[in-house]
Amino acid sequence: MTKRIVIAGSGFAGLWASLSASRAIALANRQDDVEVMVVSPTPALVIRPRLYEAALDGVNPSVSKLLAVIGVRHLPGVVETIDDAKRTITVVTSNGGFQKIAYERFVCATGSQLYRPAIPGLSDYAFDTDQLESAAALEVHLRSLASRTSSAARNTVVIAGGGSTGLETATEMPIRLRAILGRDAAFRVVLIDTAERPGGSLGNELTPYFAEALAFAGVEVRNGLRVDTIAEHAVTLSSGERIETDTLIWAGGMRANPLAAQIPGEHDELGRVIGDAYLRAPSANGIFVTGDTVRAATDDLGNVAAMSCQHALSLGRVAGHNAAAEIVGLPLHPYSQKKYVTCIDLGEWGALYTEGWDRQVRLTRDEAKALKRDINRVWIYPPEADHDTAISIANPDYIIVP
Ligand SMILES: Cc1cc2nc3c(=O)[nH]c(=O)nc-3n(C[C@H](O)[C@H](O)[C@H](O)COP(=O)(O)OP(=O)(O)OC[C@H]3O[C@@H](n4cnc5c(N)ncnc54)[C@H](O)[C@@H]3O)c2cc1C
Repeated sequence: MTKRIVIAGSGFAGLWASLSASRAIALANRQDDVEVMVVSPTPALVIRPRLYEAALDGVNPSVSKLLAVIGVRHLPGVVETIDDAKRTITVVTSNGGFQKIAYERFVCATGSQLYRPAIPGLSDYAFDTDQLESAAALEVHLRSLASRTSSAARNTVVIAGGGSTGLETATEMPIRLRAILGRDAAFRVVLIDTAERPGGSLGNELTPYFAEALAFAGVEVRNGLRVDTIAEHAVTLSSGERIETDTLIWAGGMRANPLAAQIPGEHDELGRVIGDAYLRAPSANGIFVTGDTVRAATDDLGNVAAMSCQHALSLGRVAGHNAAAEIVGLPLHPYSQKKYVTCIDLGEWGALYTEGWDRQVRLTRDEAKALKRDINRVWIYPPEADHDTAISIANPDYIIVP
């Protein structure tokens, strides 16, 4: 009887899990009795690191042909429940149907979602750049500002959250607003952050660079403050300050996709399952966790994978390989990823590229910007729909970072 590996998600981790699982099955010559199925809403990989940009064309490349050439079946839909005792999942299919599917191994690669605390007005009035649909809704809204009467609220964009997503969105915003409202339009972009210095959550050594880039972009910064309430045309801060705005963009961090909560075992404060060295969910039956749904040690120095595509790509390869290896009898591959880099886009100022967990600055401004462009537009994209090329870089120890 055919044994099935089901992978939920076709993002960075899910796609690479499917490629590495196929590779392991082919290595063991078991294509006849082991199959791989990917379940996700559409056979596409959303390049979430580009969602702060205005131009969203090309950020959702199809992986349909790629999955077909490596023999992976795609089922359009979402996994709704996991029954690890019975090794079954239920799927609500994209055409409104319902399926119960048995698995030998299940790989949870459903990613993460924006953290939305209970701030009054957040769910009604805030925009975000977390998923393709919400980023597209923000762009439609920004374009609609051009046809509104000029006012303090129309001309002010507030970004709440000074992590990397908030910084990228804030420093890009003047470029987007000039394109929409005109080169000489008067507008304000305000960044609110709970940290004492801009981008402080990314390490104090980097804050002078962020401050310079924000000043270069003309972004006003309010540090050490929270957004308390959000209304249609204004926000209030924990200092009591009220800012009139039609556009509040929430960038308050990410949490693991809620499906991870159904997986038995310990979870961290971000909702990620605490995985073992092989990315198994240790208390569950035949379940692997990967990408933004797993907390995994990257080395033996105490570092842990970030919610990042840099980690998701490798975590995906390892989880997919191990899920297949357990079935076909190949050696399992422990996850480790010693190199860590960050590359943050900072608008017209350029970008900032660091290496190491202590974030040593290696490139700034135009040089870092060129690297960021390559990362965001080439390196993290799916490979060509060519069987041999895809499989040749799907080994669990393949590393993509510079
Ligand atoms: C604006 C923004 C900027 C970012 N910038 C960077 C950056 O510069 N560098 C970096 O490394 N990271 C960055 N990230 C983070 C990075 O995008 C994520 O860490 C990465 O996408 C995680 O990959 P993943 O495969 O785990 O999840 P995702 O890419 O989120 O993919 C999840 C997949 O699961 C599917 N799915 C969800 N629920 C279900 C379900 N119930 N059933 C089936 N399928 C489901 C989704 O449709 C999707 O296919 C950024 C994120 C954002 C939002």
